[in-house]
Amino acid sequence: MILSGKELAANIKAGIAADIPHLKEKYGRVPHLVVILIGNDPASESYVRGKAKASELVGITNTTIRKPVETTEEELLSLIYQLNRDDKVDGILVQLPLPDHINEPTIVAAISPEKDVDGFHPLNLAALYQNRPCILPCTPKGIIRMLKAANVSIEGKRAVVVGRSNIVGMPVARLLMNENATVTIAHSHTVNLAEITRQAEILVVATGHAHLITEDMVSDGVVVIDVGISRNPQTGKLVGDVDFDNVAPKASVITPVPGGVGPMTICSLMENTVECFINRMKFKKNY
Ligand code: NAD
Repeated sequence: MILSGKELAANIKAGIAADIPHLKEKYGRVPHLVVILIGNDPASESYVRGKAKASELVGITNTTIRKPVETTEEELLSLIYQLNRDDKVDGILVQLPLPDHINEPTIVAAISPEKDVDGFHPLNLAALYQNRPCILPCTPKGIIRMLKAANVSIEGKRAVVVGRSNIVGMPVARLLMNENATVTIAHSHTVNLAEITRQAEILVVATGHAHLITEDMVSDGVVVIDVGISRNPQTGKLVGDVDFDNVAPKASVITPVPGGVGPMTICSLMENTVECFINRMKFKKNY
């Protein structure tokens, strides 16, 4: 089964769109997401456009703030502090990667945790790793949603996650563990990756290395979630971490690139923005 995220994401977004008028009626305004883009990297530009388009579709307010590549870390921090204080802003997202002169962890930690729609803030991640309530990082949240929608049973399964970043690998491993999978995390220092990946009943790959996973590295019937995105320098086309054409015949379920995990990430972002909005409105009401 080729597991596309497009249809599921469209259904979830339609559900959010249906809820927005009720939220407006209840709270007097709609959720407001602010996206900050530093520089004009084409891939980041396209991600930012996608976020604006999805916001428009579901009916939340989106403000994209574009700043030149020379923007200093201090200037960016000052903008974030201003948005943190702005009562009419519910979600703040700084598009990554940032130029080299800006320290990403410093910026991510400066965003108010209650407006951290990406779920990257250290406090949100700490809560996730402790299995406490938090804003879930968008891509891992979308992956679990996709698996459940495809009726893939996770409980008791051997899952292998390739990649250990705090954006995808580590949070997705934690969420799979929460669903009672037994999880192995592989990374760039893993010796004999194929030996590990062949044990997987569920394989999630998030490295950014095109076609890292070949057919000899998977077992028959494996569920494959390909998170990686890179561009083929010859064709300019997007490719995943998995050699799709050769792995697909062995897999019971596999996600394509593009059109697999990507749409779920954006739809989780919309959900997180609404969640931040509702949490803030409830907080205001109670105090
Ligand atoms: P990252 O660079 O922070 O982490 C990559 C991870 O892969 C590291 O933990 C590293 O140890 C591991 N790795 C690298 N080479 C490896 C190898 N040869 N063998 C085993 N492990 C290896 O990247 P990230 O932010 O986690 O993103 C990973 C990929 O997922 C990228 O291609 C990114 O563009 C993509 N991504 C896609 C979405 C989406 O919505 N589809 C969202 C986020 C990230």
